[in-house]
Amino acid sequence: MGARDQLIDRIKGLQPAADVVAELMRAIAPAPRVGVSQWADAYRRLPTKGAAEPGQWRTSRVPYLRGIMDALSPEHPAQEVVFCKSVQAAGTECGNNWVGWFLDTQKAPMMVVQPTLDMAERWSKQRLASMIEDCPTLRSKVRPARERDSGNTTLLKEFPGGVLVAAGANSAAGLRSMPVRYLMLDEVDAYPVELEGEGSPIELAEARTTTFSRRKVFKISTPTIESLSVITKAYAASNQQRYHVPCPHCGHSQPLVWENLHWPDGKPAEARYTCSDCGVLIDDHHKTAMLEAGEWVEHNPGHPVAGFHINALYTPTGLGLSWGELAEKYERARADPVKMKAFENLRLGLATKDPNEKLDFEEIAERADLTRLLRIIPRGCLLLTAGIDVQKDRWAVVILGWGRNGRVWVIDAFELPGDPTRPGDWLKLEAKVTEPIANAYGIPMRVELAAVDSGYLQDDVIAFTRPRQRRGWFAVKGALDGRRPIISRPSKVDFSWKGKVQKRGAEQWHVGGFHSKEWVFSRLSADRERLPEDRVFCFPAGLGEDWYQQLTAEIYDSTKRRFVKMRQRNEALDTVCYALAAAMHPALRVHTWHDLRWQERERVYEPREGDLFSMTPGPQYTKIEADAQPQPSAEKATPEAPAPEVEDESQTEPPAIVPAGYAPAPTRKRQPVRRLNSPTTWG
Ligand SMILES: [Zn+2]
Repeated sequence: MGARDQLIDRIKGLQPAADVVAELMRAIAPAPRVGVSQWADAYRRLPTKGAAEPGQWRTSRVPYLRGIMDALSPEHPAQEVVFCKSVQAAGTECGNNWVGWFLDTQKAPMMVVQPTLDMAERWSKQRLASMIEDCPTLRSKVRPARERDSGNTTLLKEFPGGVLVAAGANSAAGLRSMPVRYLMLDEVDAYPVELEGEGSPIELAEARTTTFSRRKVFKISTPTIESLSVITKAYAASNQQRYHVPCPHCGHSQPLVWENLHWPDGKPAEARYTCSDCGVLIDDHHKTAMLEAGEWVEHNPGHPVAGFHINALYTPTGLGLSWGELAEKYERARADPVKMKAFENLRLGLATKDPNEKLDFEEIAERADLTRLLRIIPRGCLLLTAGIDVQKDRWAVVILGWGRNGRVWVIDAFELPGDPTRPGDWLKLEAKVTEPIANAYGIPMRVELAAVDSGYLQDDVIAFTRPRQRRGWFAVKGALDGRRPIISRPSKVDFSWKGKVQKRGAEQWHVGGFHSKEWVFSRLSADRERLPEDRVFCFPAGLGEDWYQQLTAEIYDSTKRRFVKMRQRNEALDTVCYALAAAMHPALRVHTWHDLRWQERERVYEPREGDLFSMTPGPQYTKIEADAQPQPSAEKATPEAPAPEVEDESQTEPPAIVPAGYAPAPTRKRQPVRRLNSPTTWG
């Protein structure tokens, strides 16, 4: 027994002033050498709000996290830890445990990076604040941000000996703030590829750690597409650990792979897992015991980076989808390539192939419905939006019609000659775009939202849209960055003489080039396999070969990580993307409409024979005839309303590839029954 231990024993003997003793003990004891998982098992409490299982954290509930948390502990030699995962894999909680352990036991600086500054603030206010609140040892260390002089703000927590900073990957200033020993990069695949003039946000943040020889960088994410996926590359350059679990029948230890999940035809709920060795089917209820007995195995042994991969087959019972529910999701996604991609990213934790398919414009042109002419609105089309591209001597315009099940019709496409620097010429555009078009019931419909590209002649475009924002006109700017959603919150472009942003001034919305083009191309591509009446992208007669050439003028370039032009002119594609952004604008959000919403519109635009309204035109009917246009203000939000945070959706469900709730038309042609080929590089 050392002298220090004897001293501690003697102090313990002094019963009366227990508090003083405790204080003394803490003062003289060295920082306890607990690992992250031991700390979490002792102190971490999950909040009653938002957690699947509130109360004391138990690593035994999610056994595969133990190895990851061990790699994050100081005793482990790895300086970089990579966790490539499906959703519901408790990756974020694993990271939060690391942060809690850090606050409680370390005297050093740490930085937590989230995809955006907003998300960093939300992480701090919700996750971090509740973790501190629910954990007495943290509560005594970190003072609440609301207290004066607490040294704490939402993005910066100071405590004796250390500091914790939260930053957004979209803001270079935060990433450059200070040197850090511990760095957590959460949801890295949702980060911008580059910050203007500053390079990659990941490299920027990692540069902060170079001064510390015993640093740790933790990268967590659900993967996206191959060329953009940071986590997939980081995992490939690691020791590639997979969690091997024993078969309950023969004991053979194996990683769980999707190909070995089987179910009887048409009964996905009965899915069971086939052992790769004895071939006996394993029931879902064995999973808990299998996970407990599992171990991480290196598939690229000896590499200094500790990499971990988990797919949804490992999700502990009660914390996410069962094997049967997963199989049901797979069956529902199988008919639609866009949903299938999301399934691979979110459930299997795999990156998907780049959308580098070349579309044949002649084949697409042949899909045109020769019985429908331009400006003819077919049955089922219940909303019109427009996309407008500005050129030196003309405007290119497309009007799209929207219906149930994600169906979209090209209603009109034209070029209007004119000079965009002359306000008078803009009025001709306004008149042409807002001109009502009668549908099959003789009821006039008008474009409800029109998106005008302001990438060229921005001031002239804004001068036109500014006074018309309430009437459904808005300026958009294409963003090359592959991470931007189809439409994301606007920038305010009007300033006061003091340089302050004018809250009610003109807005410029951002349209994500990658996601909008991928949305268009994946549908054009999927329609090839569909019967004409089942296609979701419908073309009228009379668009002209040139228009189809423009529509297919770009291809995805994996090395440049963006769409590039194959042909000089691409206005048709741009206008379609803008009209799509208009339909997904917070004022409409057509991709989220439920049946009731469509029914409301049907009553107005497609009154059935025998309907009360069609026999004797009711007030609603007359009103539409009178002003001939339901204004966007009739919808739940106006374009001026504060934009719902479009980017938010990427937090719960990483990068939106499939807008939620967007179902394609059912495919009549039976898809060949084929199991998913694993597009993985790690098998
Ligand atoms: Zn077996």
